[in-house]
Amino acid sequence: RTVYVNGQYLPETEAKVSIFDRGFLMADAVYEVTSVLDGKLIDFEGHAVRLKRSLDELDMAAPCSKEELLEIHRKLVELNGIEEGLIYLQVTRGSDGDRNFVFPSDDIRPTIVLFTQNKPGLADSPAARKGAKVISIEDIRWGRRDIKTVQLLYPSMGKMMAKNAGADDAWMIEDGYVTEGTSNNAYFVKSGKIVTRPLSTDILHGITRKAVLRMAAEAQMEVEERLFTIDEAKEADEAFTTSASAFVMPVVEIDGVQLGDGTPGPIAKRLREIYLDESLKAAI
Ligand code: PMP
Repeated sequence: RTVYVNGQYLPETEAKVSIFDRGFLMADAVYEVTSVLDGKLIDFEGHAVRLKRSLDELDMAAPCSKEELLEIHRKLVELNGIEEGLIYLQVTRGSDGDRNFVFPSDDIRPTIVLFTQNKPGLADSPAARKGAKVISIEDIRWGRRDIKTVQLLYPSMGKMMAKNAGADDAWMIEDGYVTEGTSNNAYFVKSGKIVTRPLSTDILHGITRKAVLRMAAEAQMEVEERLFTIDEAKEADEAFTTSASAFVMPVVEIDGVQLGDGTPGPIAKRLREIYLDESLKAAI
């Protein structure tokens, strides 16, 4: 693979970041994951806007302009011959060559790294045809989940808990209400109405969430943004998650309780189709 690090395109084995980098020492870093379908970027604009917001919220300097970012994404897709896959982007506060809790001075350059992941079959995914099984776990993450930081230890542990329980993913619960999945936003459907948690600092403001809610409204589907419990979701007709890397993923089981007939629900399937279709048309 050819990867990008601080202005250079290099073979992955030659790319280097300092051991003092604050991304490594303090998880002082933000990231984005953009999908590639038909060799084109899905919702690049959405990711660029959210990246800027994450950087601003953390008082971190932007490593480059949006135009340069687009150019780097496109060049990596081309150099690595990606038709279907993902582009991972990470920006860290960089390093002043030592370990300190206080931020380094403003003249320290942020670190920027991008790499591609080739994923043939990303859109026509067997996992989406089958649907996902989720378990529920306590949400013990920090209070600024709207900032897309690389503090992914607990989400990673959540996925392991799911795996060890024979499931695919975990939905997290705080104060009795579902926040989101370990790496996606969570929804259920009851009597034709789509329910999902409203935006706040408690959840990530999903790029896919925004697009899917818009498309659902355009397709005259009923959407309600409100807090919901895991028990409501277990009693739902269907459920699903959204994320930039898995699009709309049907959920067919929650804590061992089967939803509907245990296969992906009609609304989740339809939204997945609409999302893939429209996103591909708008891809750049
Ligand atoms: N919530 C969390 C915690 C996530 O990690 C992600 C994926 N990055 C999402 C939601 C979905 O966001 P997006 O649609 O922008 O990928």
